[in-house]
Amino acid sequence: MQAFDVIVSGAGIVGAAFALGLARANVRVAVIEPQPPRAPASEGAWDTRVYTVSPGNAEWLATLQAWQRMSAERLTRVETMQIYGDRAPGRLEFSAYEAGMRELAWVAESRELQRALWHSLEAASHVTLFAGARCADIAWARNEAQVTLENGGGLSARLVVGADGADSWVRQRAGIDVTTHDYGQLGVVANFETERGHGGVAYQWFTGEGVLAFLPLPGNRTSIVWSVPEAHGRELLAYTPEQLCAEVERASESALGALRVITPAAAFPLKRQRVARLVEPRAALIGDAAHNIHPLAGQGVNLGLRDARELAAVLTGRGAQRDCGDYALLRRFERARREDIAAVELTTDGLEKLFNSPAVWIARLRNFGLTIVDAQGPLKTALARRAAA
Ligand SMILES: Cc1cc2nc3c(=O)[nH]c(=O)nc-3n(C[C@H](O)[C@H](O)[C@H](O)COP(=O)(O)OP(=O)(O)OC[C@H]3O[C@@H](n4cnc5c(N)ncnc54)[C@H](O)[C@@H]3O)c2cc1C
Repeated sequence: MQAFDVIVSGAGIVGAAFALGLARANVRVAVIEPQPPRAPASEGAWDTRVYTVSPGNAEWLATLQAWQRMSAERLTRVETMQIYGDRAPGRLEFSAYEAGMRELAWVAESRELQRALWHSLEAASHVTLFAGARCADIAWARNEAQVTLENGGGLSARLVVGADGADSWVRQRAGIDVTTHDYGQLGVVANFETERGHGGVAYQWFTGEGVLAFLPLPGNRTSIVWSVPEAHGRELLAYTPEQLCAEVERASESALGALRVITPAAAFPLKRQRVARLVEPRAALIGDAAHNIHPLAGQGVNLGLRDARELAAVLTGRGAQRDCGDYALLRRFERARREDIAAVELTTDGLEKLFNSPAVWIARLRNFGLTIVDAQGPLKTALARRAAA
């Protein structure tokens, strides 16, 4: 049986970053990942899974020596965010300049970020990677947890952290209840070349057919996330590239001119998940294992990275104890994360409901609301700074 301080199950963006955060403080970490990131089929192809990463998280990833491993040519600064309601005068604009910030967010490809983090894990002392491995069993004892891998290997640690995504195995084995709400929607993603430059602007349209977001990619390129009812999502997936371009141009009112597909559409079912607890004795959850939200605010990965930052800080900070699975310590992490998680869940869920309601008075209210917020400079600055964490 190999002994560690912490076992991290899942090295997606959140699990990998967390493990690096611990390793920096000389904590001995085992990372179990059944599907380590691979190089793309053709080098230079753009990943359809694209994230907005907050400046605070980008800074943390840089302290982990991971952010700078990504090519600067594949990163884009979001300097302005324009949000449109489904009827006039609904419009809201956030500007980094007005909020006194260099950027509102960065846009990065999921695959590039995962590869950067994985290379940092490979280079880190104190990290042992179990790539291609999967957990088969777990036994919780008073002073440690013991994990058996499918290949028969055995690991023990003071703490097991579930960073294994929305269907978390650790969550299930720790007996933490989860409630799931299916939005009945698909998140359709695709990348396009655009006739006009985006100028660092990210767009979002709340339309009668769902929420369409344009995230700027380097050059004259953009990545879309279009959250639509399932039937419409399946139609979009079946379209020819020309039909898809025409549909996206129509919904975006040709904001960036003519489009050409550069990465074909893919889709993800959208659901909301809330867990009863983030911690149990010798177990903690972070990332999508701990919460799953609608992608309309582009906050899923950011929320997960803030979990990872907080848990790493609690386990390694001043006052941290030698037993990093100490329940009092884990409860401190849970309390610290409660407000941020609840606020993001409430906002994304509330916006989803507000813009999917067919009631005329709600339609007036939501569009009027955008315009009112747009007129409030200090409120906008506060919102932009909060999202930057
Ligand atoms: C359409 C769409 C668009 C999105 N856009 C954005 C955006 O713009 N910005 C943003 O912040 N978020 C966005 N999100 C959310 C984001 O994708 C997730 O929040 C994020 O991927 C969660 O990261 P994670 O590391 O917690 O989980 P995951 O990425 O799911 O990683 C989990 C890891 O665990 C591994 N694993 C699985 N099972 C096991 C097991 N049994 N044992 C060990 N390991 C296991 C997996 O192989 C994987 O590597 C979007 C989501 C969707 C659906």
